[in-house]
Amino acid sequence: MVTRKDYTVKFRDYGNITVPKGTRVTHETALGFDRNYNFVAELDWVTKFYPTIDNILKMDLENYGLNIPEEYLNKIEKEHLNKNEDIYGNKGAVWSDEIHISISGQSTTLCGTPMLAFNWASIENLSHVSCPKCIDKKKNNV
Ligand SMILES: [Zn+2]
Repeated sequence: MVTRKDYTVKFRDYGNITVPKGTRVTHETALGFDRNYNFVAELDWVTKFYPTIDNILKMDLENYGLNIPEEYLNKIEKEHLNKNEDIYGNKGAVWSDEIHISISGQSTTLCGTPMLAFNWASIENLSHVSCPKCIDKKKNNV
């Protein structure tokens, strides 16, 4: 899953820092996988926007984690899908939270991913779409 807009927050002693739109997040925490957490998982932006403190800031982001609130995440709840649409994700997609949109009668997802394996998104009872490509396509088609 990625963020859908910039998120500015006071982080430790750094003052306000801004996590840019499109940054990948993860449910992996120090204590394991937890869907209540959406930690920043991609740190390239730190070097770009905070070049003078990037090493120490990256280290602190990795050690302490920066949790992104739900409303900043790029996802669509299942209830907002059309009648012929559903969610699809293989095991890897569920792990990285890149859940696609499937369309009834089609063998690939909206973004073109073949649906060859079990639908773990459905088995795990997930209720949202989080693949950025599927979300973009849906927004452009509707
Ligand atoms: Zn997709």
